[in-house]
Amino acid sequence: MRMTYRCFVLPLAVLGLAGCARNPVTGAREFVMMTEAQEIALGRESDEQVRNQLGLYDDEELQQYVSEIGLQMAARSHRPDLPWSFAVVDSPAVNAFAIPGGYIYLTRGIMAFLGDEADLAGVLGHEIGHVTARHSVQAYTRASGAQLGLAVGSIFSPAARAVGGAAQSGLGVLLLRYGRDAELQADRLGAQYAGETGWDPNGVRDMLSTLSRLSEGGDSRGVPGWLSTHPAASDRVARVGPVIEELGTRLDFDELRVNRAGYFDRIDGLMFGDNPDQGIVRGRDFLHPVLRFALQFPEGWEVVNTPTQVVVQQPGEEVYMLLQLVTDPTTTDLERLADDTMREGGYRLDSGGNTRIGDLDAFVGTFTGAQTDAGEPRARVAYIDYDGTIYVVGGLTGAESYDQVESEFNTSIRSFRSLSPAEAEDIRPNRLRFYTVRDGETWQSIAQNASESIIPPNTLAIMNGVPVNEQPRPGDRIKIAVEG
Ligand SMILES: [Zn+2]
Repeated sequence: MRMTYRCFVLPLAVLGLAGCARNPVTGAREFVMMTEAQEIALGRESDEQVRNQLGLYDDEELQQYVSEIGLQMAARSHRPDLPWSFAVVDSPAVNAFAIPGGYIYLTRGIMAFLGDEADLAGVLGHEIGHVTARHSVQAYTRASGAQLGLAVGSIFSPAARAVGGAAQSGLGVLLLRYGRDAELQADRLGAQYAGETGWDPNGVRDMLSTLSRLSEGGDSRGVPGWLSTHPAASDRVARVGPVIEELGTRLDFDELRVNRAGYFDRIDGLMFGDNPDQGIVRGRDFLHPVLRFALQFPEGWEVVNTPTQVVVQQPGEEVYMLLQLVTDPTTTDLERLADDTMREGGYRLDSGGNTRIGDLDAFVGTFTGAQTDAGEPRARVAYIDYDGTIYVVGGLTGAESYDQVESEFNTSIRSFRSLSPAEAEDIRPNRLRFYTVRDGETWQSIAQNASESIIPPNTLAIMNGVPVNEQPRPGDRIKIAVEG
């Protein structure tokens, strides 16, 4: 375990070659620092990180389904010979992203917001477009002067928060912005690949409309600032229209697949929100029913859970808390373990001592890290022994702001406690189910009653492809989420 100040950034791999290459989509010559072989190698390496750190969603049939559609579309793309790979990652965020070399990921979160198979093809096509037009390679090349890791773009910007956060922290990946033109080009390519492979390209427009509604009226908690520079989703909806019309002049849309019923069957029972096996975030509480512990973070801070660590940030500030396990502790002496592992991360112990947190043994200390251009980091860190498993909970910030947040760090650290079997038993995931709308029902009433208040009414409307000011019609089969 390492706690380095800017631990959220991976050092850039040194790339040996630079030169010109033809863009596979436009045919234009462009300066890239990466050969195709290097691109594939980078993708393969990054794919391993994504799989390890975000984890794949445990539903083999759904993985197969997404992969088959993706592979069919990729085979018709401008770069059919890449080692294409499509996977659904176990994240509740609404997002999709591509990394160089043809590795494409959808979150299980986005699956719940798509209305049919054509929407799914639209998302896959958009991400394929980022790869075929070498946007991710270009972004990587542009960024290579800075300290960046992978180039990961996100299609579903408004709700990218969770994955964006995870990407910047747990993944060690910086979420790179594609330019406005790159996004519009990916939308066009997405529509083209979908249509030419046999799916209704209107799916691109539909999923962009959903994106637009999410960014405008939906759940906008913690939308990161960089969204302000992202092309507006509503603009993208308008821009992709002519491309779809042009496709209509050479494709018979009636022959193209939409397959709403088939898509609904595939996502019936899909996990919605956090997966309790990885610990869940409920407000400011972090609960882990499998490892049987709970912890409370400061009010209003953003909590991002990844399979390897929990990263919490005071909104807009360079103030973080981290929670993780010490894998293979070298000693059972908590003070020595703390000193050793923190030293490895470049920190020296200023003060600290053995203590009890609840009924658990712990060592809590204050550490100072090596000076960086971001300043001198200071950390308050606890090593807690819970039945032989060592948890590390720490707060981290620059020395100048440390005093203002120390008490919040301490309160969180002190809130670490075990969960009783009954409490653990009580924590179940939410799942996607279907519901037929009855006479007189509104999103408000359905959200409250049928959906057990798991999803707010506006989000429920958006999830079902409807503007928030329009009510569902009696007899409609809609998506809801229920516990268990
Ligand atoms: Zn995109």
